Amino acid sequence: MTILKKVKENLFLAIVTLAYIIMFIANPAMGIESVKNSGYYIKEMLMIMPVIFVLTALLDMWVPKEKIMRYLGKDAGAKGIFLSFVVGSISAGPIYAAFPMCVMLHKKGASIRNIVIILSSWAVIKVPMLLNEAKFLGPKFMAIRWVLTVLAIIIFSWISAKIIKDEDLPGEVMVKPGLHINRNACMGCTLCAKNYPVLFEMKGKKAAVKEYNKELLDFENLQSAIRACPLHAIEYSEE
Ligand code: SF4
Repeated sequence: MTILKKVKENLFLAIVTLAYIIMFIANPAMGIESVKNSGYYIKEMLMIMPVIFVLTALLDMWVPKEKIMRYLGKDAGAKGIFLSFVVGSISAGPIYAAFPMCVMLHKKGASIRNIVIILSSWAVIKVPMLLNEAKFLGPKFMAIRWVLTVLAIIIFSWISAKIIKDEDLPGEVMVKPGLHINRNACMGCTLCAKNYPVLFEMKGKKAAVKEYNKELLDFENLQSAIRACPLHAIEYSEE
C-alpha cells in the first residue's frame, strides 16, 4: 500500500523510471544513450537553476504585487498581452528557466493567459532565435513565421485561460486584488468554507475563493474565516 501511495504521489517520476527500465530491456544501447543524455541535461540544469532561483527571489522581493497585477494581471488587457510578449521574447536561457519565474509571477497576480504568452514566446520567438533564423532561413521566412506564431500564441493562450483556472496551479493564488489563499499551506480543514460559504469553497482538497463582488463582501464573515484558519492561509488587504 505504501509503495502504491508513493508511486501515485510521484506518478511522473514512476512513468519515466518505467520507460528507462523498458528501454534497457528492449535495447540496452539506447538505454545507455538515454541515461547519458539525461545526465547532460541534469548537469546543465544544475548549473543554470541556482542563478535562476536567485534572480526569481530578487524579482519577488523588488517587484510589488500591485505592479504585476496592473501590468500582467487579468485586467491588464492588450497592455498585458504586449508586455508578456516582450518579457518572453527578450529573455535568455532555456525554457525550463522560465518556469520558476512564471510561478512567481502567477503568485503575484499575473493571469494564466499572460503566463502562457510568456512561456510560448520564450520558447519559440526569442530575439536571438529570430536573428539566427533570419540569418539562416532569410528575413521573409522569419517574419512570416513570427506573425503566424504570434497569432497562434494569442489564440492558444486564450483557450488555455478558459480551461486552466488559477486554483489549478500550485502555490499561493491571487484570485482577486486584495484576497488570496496560500494553497500550499491550506490543509483542507473546510473551516473557511463553513464560516463564509458564499465566498469560500473546497476544490479538490484545498480551499478556493469563489467569484465575488467586493462591494457585497461581508467583512465580519471574512474576518471570522481569516481568524478561523489554523494555518493563516487566507490573506486580505485593502487595495
Ligand atoms: S481554513 Fe485555512 S486550512 Fe482550512 S480549508 Fe480554509 S484555507 Fe485551508
